[in-house]
Amino acid sequence: MSPTTLEQALQRATQQLADAGVEDAGRDARVLLGHVTDRDRAYLHAFPEVVLSDEQLVQLSELVGRRIARMPMSQVLGSREFWSLDFQVTPDTLTPRPDSETLVEAAVEQFGDEPGPSSIADLGTGTGCLLISLLTVWPQSQGLGVDLSPEALAVACNNARTCGIDERARFLEGSWFEGIEDRFDLIVSNPPYIPSPDLAGLEPEVVQHEPHLALDGGEDGLDAYRALLPQLTNYLTDEGVVVLEHGAGQGPEIEKLALEHGLVVVTNRSDLAGLRRCLVLRAE
Ligand code: GLN
Repeated sequence: MSPTTLEQALQRATQQLADAGVEDAGRDARVLLGHVTDRDRAYLHAFPEVVLSDEQLVQLSELVGRRIARMPMSQVLGSREFWSLDFQVTPDTLTPRPDSETLVEAAVEQFGDEPGPSSIADLGTGTGCLLISLLTVWPQSQGLGVDLSPEALAVACNNARTCGIDERARFLEGSWFEGIEDRFDLIVSNPPYIPSPDLAGLEPEVVQHEPHLALDGGEDGLDAYRALLPQLTNYLTDEGVVVLEHGAGQGPEIEKLALEHGLVVVTNRSDLAGLRRCLVLRAE
């Protein structure tokens, strides 16, 4: 292999990604190059003439290949930051999105500082990002993360360990409240809510690489809420609060369902794009 400098590697990777239709090819190329060389952006910029090792070149071309196949950056790198914590991400877990931080903020607004809720349940926990973030906010809280996917639960367990809250988190394989008898002060969920007919129109990163189990909300996107909402009052403590994520425009329909099932709306929140994304409920 002929010597390749950082600058050449960056140019080549950017071109390859751009040719594959990757939107922010330059940024992704820089992040991948930084990852394989373990150097930050400033270093790549300051020392363009530094030569990559053969090993680094092989690793870079492997990562660029995955990105060309439109694997999301979170899966290519194997992790994503959420709530200033680092979460392992695999093809079995939905990538934590900044919009979902809205749910953590909404929960923190409801309970304030310590001690916070004594028990928290996260239904469809995926990477565990909601539960784990909340457990880092309130060091006295205990949490339960539920998911249908054992592969996702293994990732969530690992994330609980690396975030240092594993002694306060339990994980359970199942569908929503299946096998659960406890009541919780706080129940959070980012369930699948994309209407099935819309799935195919999502960007390739999402539709080809993220778990459909975490995305597909049935014909109108509301299947998960129809399963969850009727059960919630059985699992809430007297002062218990529910914080749910939902898709654009789904708020009113979900509110209506909630009212039919003994719940009242405490408040709602919008995401970073200004779209209503999060509903806070409690028992009537
Ligand atoms: N926010 C995700 C997206 O738009 C969907 C997540 C979900 O269905 N819960 O891709």
